[in-house]
Amino acid sequence: MERYNAVVIGSGPAGHTCAVRLSQLGARVAVVERDYVGGICTNWGCTPSKSMIESAKIARIVRESGRYGVNVSNFTVDFKAVAQRRDEVIRASRMDVLALLEHHHVEIYQGEAHVLTPGQVQIRRGKLDLDGRVMHYTGRNEDIAADHIVLATGSTPALPDFVQPNDPFVVSSNRLITIGELPRRLTIVGGGVIGLEFATIFSNLGSQVTVIEYRDHVLNGMDPEISLAIVAEMQAVGVRILTYHRVFSVAAGMVYVEDRATNEAFEIPSDAVLIATGRQPVIEKTMFDRLGIAYDARGIGVDDYLRTNVPGVWAIGDATGKSILAHVGMQQGIVAAENIMEAPGDALRQMDYSVIPAVVYSIPEIVGVGEIPTDLEDVDVFKVPFSANLRANIEAYDSGFMKIWVKNSRVLAAQAIGHNVSEIMQELANMIALKTPLADVARIIHAHPTYSEITRSVLELALGRAVDFVPTEP
Ligand SMILES: Cc1cc2nc3c(=O)[nH]c(=O)nc-3n(C[C@H](O)[C@H](O)[C@H](O)COP(=O)(O)OP(=O)(O)OC[C@H]3O[C@@H](n4cnc5c(N)ncnc54)[C@H](O)[C@@H]3O)c2cc1C
Repeated sequence: MERYNAVVIGSGPAGHTCAVRLSQLGARVAVVERDYVGGICTNWGCTPSKSMIESAKIARIVRESGRYGVNVSNFTVDFKAVAQRRDEVIRASRMDVLALLEHHHVEIYQGEAHVLTPGQVQIRRGKLDLDGRVMHYTGRNEDIAADHIVLATGSTPALPDFVQPNDPFVVSSNRLITIGELPRRLTIVGGGVIGLEFATIFSNLGSQVTVIEYRDHVLNGMDPEISLAIVAEMQAVGVRILTYHRVFSVAAGMVYVEDRATNEAFEIPSDAVLIATGRQPVIEKTMFDRLGIAYDARGIGVDDYLRTNVPGVWAIGDATGKSILAHVGMQQGIVAAENIMEAPGDALRQMDYSVIPAVVYSIPEIVGVGEIPTDLEDVDVFKVPFSANLRANIEAYDSGFMKIWVKNSRVLAAQAIGHNVSEIMQELANMIALKTPLADVARIIHAHPTYSEITRSVLELALGRAVDFVPTEP
């Protein structure tokens, strides 16, 4: 039987990052994967969605090119080519993950892992048909031994009760992201991050999109002003957004909806219905019960060091239910690997969830970082619109704003909606994490004209000395 210091089950961002760090620290590592290497993020999540959003953005730019003095007539969207480009991007990033693991001498086992004991994993070996994504199990089982087992098994889309899983009109994000034809009418159930990203993709590529949200606002957890702003932006390009509406049935391409305010019921004919109501962790109940691994509906139970309650078994990524974000899973992977390789008696590294930037790749983008305090005593809120930023005005991306919540001259939280805000928010994330005084960053020269100047503007505003625009609010 092959013996490893650690075996990682699942090769998504959490699993493969953990494997690389383990190897860097001198471990002999194996990764077991029952599907494409790279997990959801590479194959059905971050990579394909952002690839299609890029096509959506280009379509938007071409559509609006007249305002920059460039006239493009008769442009069309070739959805098959969009899908082909997406598939090439996926394939390339999957190959990058494979090359990374190979570079770090991580052994990859293709097949399904079952933990027999905390020190032994059985692999039902298979061979993946890369083009058809069909796993051909060979009927051969192989056992491997490991001092540590890391569960990085990810999450799957959650389907609500009103949906028949085999309804041909209903798609999960996993299926919609691989679609080869543009649906003429797409209805999206759920106005969260995934729902709004798919609305961005398909509305800009030519579908008629309706988003139905149960709550009275989209993007639960974000500042209400940002929720309202993105609804207005999407409605302006033809997306129909129904907030405070309940979907009670989906059948044969018809979505049955009730207005929660008036109780009026109506139907929305659809060529595809995306269920984007959340994701659930991959929990192998029978196996976990046999091994005594603690879990609940939110995920596998882990402590701050990523240990489960069973010695030698660790869990990271979406499967822990701590977050459904690739970068959190990657960080958990690093922390778990460092703790696994820690010398006995040395202090373990604690996972810190306090500063997690979260991005919505809509047009325009949205980003939030830090906790908005529920108790606003001694907290001041400052907001600068992008219309006060020269680069945004020059490039006609002047909608949106940046907002910060400040206490004792430190930023507690920051949120923004605007062009490419995902690329400028890390400065504020670092300030929150390092508890940097506002003045320390406000006095650093920011290049002009850049979008990042808005950070300095909002810090200067908080310090009561805005120099580059006239504040409209006290
Ligand atoms: C449409 C969409 C867009 C997204 N966009 C973003 C984004 O822009 N940014 C972001 O941060 N996050 C994004 N996410 C979320 C991100 O994809 C996940 O947070 C991330 O993939 C979780 O990583 P993971 O390693 O925990 O699990 P996964 O990526 O889910 O990987 C788990 C792997 O484990 C394997 N596995 C499970 N059980 C076994 C077993 N018994 N044996 C062998 N293998 C097994 C699975 O096959 C899978 O490959 C998006 C998700 C979706 C659906």
